[in-house]
Order: sequence, then structure tokens, then C-alpha cells
Amino acid sequence: MERGPIAEIDLSAIAYNLRTAKKITGTGTIIAVVKADGYGHGAVEVSRRLVKEGASYLAVAYTSEAIALRHAGIKAPIIVLFDKNNIEVYFKYSLIPVVHDVKTAQSFSKEAKAGKHNVNLHIKVDTGMGRLGFNMEDIEKAMSAIGKMNFISVKGLMSHFSDAGISDRSYALMQIDSFNKARNVLAQKAKSVLCHMANSAAVMTLPESYFDAIRPGLMLYGYSPIQDTGCRIQDAGYRASCIVHHASSLKPSMTVKTKILSIRRFKKGTPVSYGRTFITARESLMAVLPVGYADGYPRVLSNNADVIIRGKRAPVSGRICMDTTMADVTEIGDVSEGDEVVLLGRQKNTAVTAFELAERAGTIPYEILTSLGNKSRRVYING
Ligand SMILES: *Cc1c(COP(=O)(O)O)cnc(C)c1O
Repeated sequence: MERGPIAEIDLSAIAYNLRTAKKITGTGTIIAVVKADGYGHGAVEVSRRLVKEGASYLAVAYTSEAIALRHAGIKAPIIVLFDKNNIEVYFKYSLIPVVHDVKTAQSFSKEAKAGKHNVNLHIKVDTGMGRLGFNMEDIEKAMSAIGKMNFISVKGLMSHFSDAGISDRSYALMQIDSFNKARNVLAQKAKSVLCHMANSAAVMTLPESYFDAIRPGLMLYGYSPIQDTGCRIQDAGYRASCIVHHASSLKPSMTVKTKILSIRRFKKGTPVSYGRTFITARESLMAVLPVGYADGYPRVLSNNADVIIRGKRAPVSGRICMDTTMADVTEIGDVSEGDEVVLLGRQKNTAVTAFELAERAGTIPYEILTSLGNKSRRVYING
């Protein structure tokens, strides 16, 4: 048998989530973020569907990801968020660079001149994320310098939120304020600049951040970056956006499945898996699953997650191994080898969300989706 679970990707759910993003923001211009192989969902297939549903741009982290999309025949404009190496490939594949230092802009200008080929670029400003981008205090000088360069047109201005989240909006509002300052600087130097800032969290909670385009990732795959539970409402404006968030009902698009490899019957008092961290408290039926941490199922979920079999939850019991995991199916009873097991997603009326696994694993749904999705064999439904 082939190793690892199957990730079933529901493309109609992704289309639905794109429509939800449009509905929330009322903007037609969507830059769909498909980095890390579409958050584990497969960038090529996901991009095709997103473009068909009206995404205006795609965004990836590195040029290799953009090249893969071009090789698959995807013609939509692609913004490359982080890469400043291999400048020539931007021209070869007509990609849109995001520039965050003057030196890189110069390199683009030089390459453009050599090829007698204009380049459209987006400028990134660091309004408080503390990652890439021009410092606010440098923006005026940098824009003057770039404005004088030949063969370069500044077509976009972007920034990224450190925390568009739920507990405190003041930092995000400060970032928006800075972004507006950068916009004003740029408005004097360039015409029709596409301004974009909103990631999924901002789409959910910060209408002030929508500008000309939104740049969601996670929500397209069916998860809000903000937990549905424990919404801490601070003020009236915030309350309204929170309600938008709750009403938005996204559809998770990934289901990760496997099949029971073997069923074992253990006497009471039998240790299960490495380190004997689980000892049966009764005579038990244990399903052995052909999935382990090497398949992106985090080992930290040992004794701390459920899988779904026959529509019921079965607790992961004992340590998750490299290639196998044990689940206690004693309560489920009527279980056979070869039965379908859902590790992430819905089976009948029971669901294990990426939020649940993330919370148990001490991480975020982004990491659950990318680690499981990028290591599973993907199949697509509703394409
Ligand atoms: C990943 C990323 C996004 C999308 O963020 P989500 O939280 O997934 O919506 C947007 N912009 C930049 C620069 C990113 O790196």
C-alpha cells in the first residue's frame, strides 16, 4: 500500500468561501493567497478554481511556487510576496514582485532595462508587523528613489497585520493609520496604485482595512483565524464586525482520511505503544491506523485527540508513532479492518476541526492544514 492518509479537497467549499469573502467585504478585487501549496490543499487545483470564481490575483511566497502555477497553465496575475532572488524569472513568467528595499528595486530596473521590458511592482511597507517592508520613516525617500528609476511602475502598496485579532484592535488601527500615511506619500508619486492590507482576520473584523483589494488566505480554506468561541467584544463597532464574522459560516475544505489497518483485542492492563503512556483500563478494542507523525499528524496529539470512525469519536491512545497511531474503538463496537477513519473533517454528524487539533497541539489551524495537507495524497471533489 501507499503510505499516508488521503486529503480530500472540496473545491466547491473553496468557491463558497471566496464568495463569502466577497460578501463580507463587498469588494470585487481579491488577491487569493495560495502559498505553501495552497495551505496544504494543492495550489494548482485551488488556484484554478479561485480564478474561475473571480479571484483577480493569486499570491505566493516564493517564485518557485509561482513557476509551478505557470507551468500548470494558470495565467492570472501572480504576486510573489517574499522572494528577491532570481529576478530574471519575474520577467520570464510575468510575475509581480513585492519590493521592500531600494536595492532590489534597482536590480529590477536594471534587468528591465536590459530586456527593454517594463516591470510592475508592489511596494511593501512595515506598519508594525516587524518582518519585511520599508520602515515608515524611510518611505518618502524610498518612493522618491524608486520613482526616478527607469522601466519600473509602482502598481501596488501593501502591508501586513501583526495582529488583526480579537483581543485588542488598537494595534491594528495604528497599523492602518500608518498605511494611510504611506498611501498619501505614494499618491503623490504614482497613479492608480492598488492598496491591499487585509488578511483573513482583518476581513472578519476590520472593515477599515479593506482598501482596494483584500488578501485572504486561511478563510478561503474554510477556517476563520479567530475562534468562534470566546469572542471578547470590546466596543460597538467591533461587535458589528464580530457578528459579520459569526454570520459568515465558512466551509472547511479539507478532510483527511485513512482506513483501519488492523484491529487488536487487548486485556485490561495492556500497555499501548511506545513508552507505555496508555494502559487499557478494561478489555479493549484498539484500531491500528496507518498514519503517523511522518504523515503530518502531530506527535504532540498522543493521548490527546480523537479520530472519527463510523460517525463516532475514538480517542488516540498511546504515543503516535512515525507511521502508525492507535485509536480506542471499544465504545464503537461494530468496527472492521478497512473502515474509514477521519483524522480531520467531518464524518456523518461528527467533526474534528483544524481548530480542535490546533488547540490540542498548541498551535494554529494554519500549521495543522499545511502539515497534514502537504503530506497526504490529495484527491479533489466537486471540481
Ligand atoms: C499569509 C499571508 C496572507 C494571508 O493571511 P491569512 O491569515 O491566511 O488570511 C496575506 N498577506 C501576507 C503578506 C501573508 O504572508
